[in-house]
Amino acid sequence: MDEHKENIHTEDVNLKMSNTREDEKVTPCSRVCSEEDSAPPASPSNGDFSHPVYKEISMANGHINRMTKDELRIKLAGLQLDTRGVKDVMKKRLKSHYKKQKLLLSAAEDGPTGAFYDYICVVDFEATCEEDNPADFHHEIIEFPMVLINTHTLEIVDSFQEYVKPEVNPQLSDFCVKLTGITQKMVDEADAFPEVLQRVVTWLRDRELGTKYKYALLTDGAWDMSKFLHIQCRLSRIRYPHFAKKWINIRKSYGNFYKVPRTQTKLSTMLEKLGLQYEGRPHSGLDDSRNIARIALRMLQDGCQLLANERMHAGQLLSVPSSAPLEGAPAPHNPRSRD
Ligand code: AMP
Ligand code: MG
Repeated sequence: MDEHKENIHTEDVNLKMSNTREDEKVTPCSRVCSEEDSAPPASPSNGDFSHPVYKEISMANGHINRMTKDELRIKLAGLQLDTRGVKDVMKKRLKSHYKKQKLLLSAAEDGPTGAFYDYICVVDFEATCEEDNPADFHHEIIEFPMVLINTHTLEIVDSFQEYVKPEVNPQLSDFCVKLTGITQKMVDEADAFPEVLQRVVTWLRDRELGTKYKYALLTDGAWDMSKFLHIQCRLSRIRYPHFAKKWINIRKSYGNFYKVPRTQTKLSTMLEKLGLQYEGRPHSGLDDSRNIARIALRMLQDGCQLLANERMHAGQLLSVPSSAPLEGAPAPHNPRSRD
């Protein structure tokens, strides 16, 4: 099921979408992977060096200061570090190594306390579809679910779900009904996308996301935003919402953090490798979102800093480099007409 999500035909001449595969379209940025994994967490921003890890670093430094040049060389060699340079250089190299190790370990243990965003909001759209999604198929969003994670308590704290009435092609294919479990009646009784988006905005605002609290959207793959939301906004003649311009693609974060290739970052595979089982009905947007949230929670527990890594710019999907300044998603605004 997951393979298909990244292989749906994207070519849509009218909408000026490209049919390039997701991976090829994203600006290459290897630093995202390497820095995300290896950079030590920053020193406490409030100058609080009372954390036990700093005492451990200080003790290790004292020990290194008492080492002879030969001892330093043997130690560095044992750690497969460069053994060249004068005594002070070797000391500095060994101190930096231990400091990095201890901070990384401490971040992994602290996990949630190091989270940059206060909340992560998981979104997994369901859309109209056909068995082989013809090249010119206009996907319309039919389910808008959100699952909210508190990154400090490491809990799912809230959820939102609404079905959406497709307007261009209101009739669901039998295939789509079977795949998603969403019936014709459910979408017939639902509102069109702009009204649903308005309630999404109210829901996010009521929770003070983007104002009192820092938050980010998170999706399974790039397509929820770069394809489904992008196409839907054009079809509904509304502007692409600012709050959805950056997001965390969990497949990318997972691959970088656990060092696995993209072929192992399908939803079912990520769950399986983490020792989790899918709960609910696959291709129900809300159940998919909950299961994606369970993966995100596990990653946060394992010490992963989930940070926005993809964005939309001028209708194009781009990577967010790890050197980009850290910021949460902006507070959402009411949908605005394109005209
Ligand atoms: P998912 O989040 O995996 O449920 O997929 C999101 C949307 O992608 C679905 O609502 C469908 O529109 C489309 N999709 C997913 N899997 C398939 C499939 N096997 N065949 C056709 N479309 C699919
Ligand atoms: Mg889904």
